[in-house]
Amino acid sequence: MEKFTPGPWKIEPGREITAQSTRYEGEEILVAKVSWRPTQAEMRANATLISASPNMYAALKLAEWGGHADDEEHYCPVCFNKKRCGHARGCELALSIAKAEGRG
Ligand SMILES: [Zn+2]
Repeated sequence: MEKFTPGPWKIEPGREITAQSTRYEGEEILVAKVSWRPTQAEMRANATLISASPNMYAALKLAEWGGHADDEEHYCPVCFNKKRCGHARGCELALSIAKAEGRG
């Protein structure tokens, strides 16, 4: 998986989402620019959701095996499979993590 720019991602006035770069001495870099269509309210909602992505990804990874990724006997809180069995087919948690990692 390619590493994304670490959070926090901030919504700048207007429609840009920025983050501090780890490669360019903390320089603010553009992560995304949100379309203003169809409405400004929807644009703000989209920007809010996108800017929360690093936090949501971290939360999904933490929740994946009940916070015990090193224990094969812990359960996924969504499909209830033990880690040693892997996620059930179609588990929304596994699908979401895979999508965030570019595998879905
Ligand atoms: Zn699962």
